[in-house]
Parts: sequence; C-alpha cells; structure tokens
Amino acid sequence: MRKQIAAANWKMNCTLQQAIDLIDGLIKENISIIPDREVVIAVPFPYLILAKEKLKNRNGFKVAAQNCYTQSSGAFTGEVSTVMLNSIGIDYVIIGHSERREIFGEDNKMLSQKVDICLTNNLKPIFCCGEPLQIRENETQNEYVEKQIRESLFHLESAQLENFVVAYEPIWAIGTGKTASSQQAQEMQAHIRNIFKEKYGGAIAASISILYGGSVKANNAKEIFEKPDVDGGLVGGASLVVAEFATIIKSLK
Ligand code: PEP
Repeated sequence: MRKQIAAANWKMNCTLQQAIDLIDGLIKENISIIPDREVVIAVPFPYLILAKEKLKNRNGFKVAAQNCYTQSSGAFTGEVSTVMLNSIGIDYVIIGHSERREIFGEDNKMLSQKVDICLTNNLKPIFCCGEPLQIRENETQNEYVEKQIRESLFHLESAQLENFVVAYEPIWAIGTGKTASSQQAQEMQAHIRNIFKEKYGGAIAASISILYGGSVKANNAKEIFEKPDVDGGLVGGASLVVAEFATIIKSLK
C-alpha cells in the first residue's frame, strides 16, 4: 500500500530558537504515526542535523532538505550535495518546488538531473509539479503538468519509481490562501497517476504517493486528503504552527 504523507515545507523561515520550539512542540503533541503513514519535515539546511537528531527515535518522522545540487561534489560554491545530505541521514529532498522553478530558473532538464542525483545517493525526491494561474484559466493544466513529468521523470526505470513521491502544487494556490477544491485536486491527481500508469503500468502508478500542496490548513485537510488519489499534503504556511500541522497530520487517511 502506498504511504499517506504529511510533509511540512518551512521554506526560508525560522531562527534556530524558532526551529527548536517548532520541533519540540510537534514532539510534545505525541502523535503516533501508524505504518504506511509518514510525517516529513523539510527544514532549511542549517537545521537539518538538529531536526534529524530530535526526531531520530520518533517512528514515522522523516527529515527532508528543500533543495540539492545536481553534482555530488566539487567547485560549486554555496551549493549542497546529496552526498552530504545522505551522510547526515536525510531521507527526502523536495525537488522542483515552484519557487525554485520561478525564482531560481530551475527547468525540467535540471530537475531531471536533481532527481537522478537524489536516487543515486539514496535520497527520495518529493517531485513537485503544478500549473500557474494563466494555464489553469486556459484549461491546459493537464498538458502542462504532463510535460513537467515527462521531461523530468520519464527517463527513469520502473524500479526507480516504486514508492516515489510526487506533489501536485497548483501555483495559484501556494501561499495565496486560495485552495484548489478537493474535486480539482482529485481530478489532477488522478490524471497524474494515469500518466504514470500509461508509461510504467498500474502497479507502479498505484505505489506512488501523490501529495496535494497549496494552502492546506487544519480546516480543509481532511476533505482534501479523503479523495482517493490524494495521499496527503505538502504544507507551507500551516506547517509553521504546531497546532495547525498536528491537525493536518491527524487528517491523513
Ligand atoms: C508549499 O510551500 O509547498 C505550499 C504549498 O505552501 P502553502 O501551504 O503555504 O500554500
């Protein structure tokens, strides 16, 4: 059975003390994570070791980086490699968040290289895709997302996609307070699963966890997560408030 996942994306937020308070706060909630569910916390690079240390005895809690570079080591000042992330026990890396695509110009080809280097170094990518508002208004979102997936993932072998994680994040719903309806999320996520089914077959497609991201909050998580092709969420703003994120975790199916 594929995993149901609540993933927190802190983005570029928190001082050290705030990071400590957030993780300790979550631990105090004492939420038990049953098998086939996971809580992933994607923290800024300086707090990765801290998060890993604090969560190491917590079943079902995993730590993610929010980005990585395409190469394993070398003269790339300021970049962080998956070899480094693997060496400190990190589990996941968010790849292709729309902020990376839009602000830092990461394209589908570069993201395919990032996916490759993650898999080479035993890190699981959380591959983000999703359309801007203009594309949604033109009703070409299905083709747009399919292109993102084809160009970044279709070179992979079936086995590399077993238990892969994809996050569908319509850009118009990220940090805007505007959530896709649960129906819109389900329609796109069924489409995404079908893209994988046509290329890799039903078993692989069924094993992929597809998360929804875009203004998920405590008060809408349950309705969105209930949909059959929504396997949890990638949560920005609401993951910075312990009580909100705790409720979101408890909303997983
Ligand atoms: C995100 O950062 O991936 C995200 C979905 O943000 P928010 O939940 O704040 O919309």
